[in-house]
Amino acid sequence: MGELIFLVWSDLVGISRTRGVPVGEYDRRRTHGLGWALAGQALTPFEDIAPNPWGPMDEVRQTPDDATRCRIVLKPDWPALHMVLCDSLDAAGRPWSCCTRSFLARTLTELEDSAGLRIHIACENEFSLSGEDGEDLAWAAPFSLDAVRRIAPFADLCTAALLDADLGLETFEPEYGVGQFEISCAPATGLAGADRVVLTREVVREAARQCALRASFTPKPAPEAVGNGCHLHVSLWDRQGRPASFDPEGPGQMSQAAASFVAGIRRHLSALVALTAPSPVSYLRLGPHHWSCGFDAVGVNNREAAIRICPSPERDAARRGHAFNLEYRAIDATANPYLAIGAIVKAGMEGIAAGLPAPPLIARDPAEMSAQEREVSAIRPLPASLETALDAFAADATAQGWFAPIMVEAYGEVKRMEARMWAARTPERMCERYARAY
Ligand code: GLU
Ligand code: MG
Repeated sequence: MGELIFLVWSDLVGISRTRGVPVGEYDRRRTHGLGWALAGQALTPFEDIAPNPWGPMDEVRQTPDDATRCRIVLKPDWPALHMVLCDSLDAAGRPWSCCTRSFLARTLTELEDSAGLRIHIACENEFSLSGEDGEDLAWAAPFSLDAVRRIAPFADLCTAALLDADLGLETFEPEYGVGQFEISCAPATGLAGADRVVLTREVVREAARQCALRASFTPKPAPEAVGNGCHLHVSLWDRQGRPASFDPEGPGQMSQAAASFVAGIRRHLSALVALTAPSPVSYLRLGPHHWSCGFDAVGVNNREAAIRICPSPERDAARRGHAFNLEYRAIDATANPYLAIGAIVKAGMEGIAAGLPAPPLIARDPAEMSAQEREVSAIRPLPASLETALDAFAADATAQGWFAPIMVEAYGEVKRMEARMWAARTPERMCERYARAY
C-alpha cells in the first residue's frame, strides 16, 4: 500500500509541520522518530527563517506519540489523511527545551504535583470558509440555517471525520461573519485537549480541500471582516476526578483555587498575550467591541472580558460543578496551543501558589466604563500590537522563567521578525498572507 503517515508537530508559530513516511516504516519511526533541524523552530509562517542560535547544526528527533494516531478517510476516491502528533526529543530521547508539546505535558505534571489538580480543556474553533482562491462565499444571514446548509456537503464530511477520529466534536455552528463557522471541541483532560485542537483544525482544512473550499483559522481574514477566535475553556479537577473550580458560595461561584488561578492569569495577562495572540494580525481582532476583548477584565458571562466565568447550565445541584468553567478569550489560532495553554496554566499556578484573591468581577463592557471607573477596578487595556505584547513578555521576569532561556530567545527572534515583516505593508496584504498560512 502506497499510503503515507504524516508525522506532525506544531512549531513556535503554531503551524503543523510534517514529514510523511510510508506506513510500513512507521514502527521503526515510533522509536527513532525522524530528524528535523533545530533551526526549523525559527521558521516564520512564511518563507523566512529568523536569526537563531542553531544555524545549520544539529537536529531533534520528531517522535510520534502513538496515542494520537488517526486515519481519516473522507471520500473513497481521495487518499486517507493519516497523522500522528510528535514530541521533539534530543538524541538521548529527552524532551528538547523548545518542544512545545513536552512543555505543556511538564506543566500539567507540575500543576498536579504542586496543587493536586488536573485540567480539562475545550476549545471553540472559529474559521472562515472561502473559495479555493480566497473568494468570499455568497452572503447569507449571520447564524442562519441558510448559511450552514449552503455548505452542507462540507459540514457533513467534517462531522463524519471528526466523529470517526473521536475528536470530541460538540457543535457545528454558522457564525457572524460571511463564510464564518465554528466547531467546538468537547472537554478533554490535559494534553489530549490541546492535541484535539491541532487535529481538529487539520481535519477541517482537509474537508474543505475536498470540497474545493479553503478553511482558514486566521484571526482576521480581512481588515473589516469578523475575527476568528479560539476561545479556550478550562476547568480544574482533583485527583479523584471531582470538579474543583466550583463553589456556590465563592466569588462568581469560583472555588478558592479557581479564583487564585484566574487572578494569576490576569496578573500575567499582558505577557501571556504575546503567546496567545502572537501575530501582527492578531491585533486587528483583539480589541473592544468585537466580543474578542480589549481589557484584562474578568466577569461572569461577560463576552467583552478577557476571562469569562461560565456558570454551569446544570440544574442538578450535585452536578453543577461539572459544567462550570473559565473561558480565556484573548487567544487565536496563530498561537501554538501547547505553548499558549502551558503558559496560561503556569500563570494560574503562580496565582494558586500565592493564594491570590479573586479579581474584581466586572458586570459591564469595560470599554463602556470611564477611564476612572476602570482605574478603580484596576482594569488595564491589553497590548494593542505584537511589539507591545512582546515588550510586556520581556518585562515579566516570572513569565520568562517559565521557559528555557533558549526558547525565550528563539520565540522572541521569530516573533520580532514577524512584526517587522508587516510593519510597512498594508493590512489587506497582511490579512491575505495570514489567511493562507493559517
Ligand atoms: N468572533 C469573536 C472573536 O473573535 C467571538 C464571538 C463569539 O463569542 O463567539 O473572539
Ligand atoms: Mg463563536
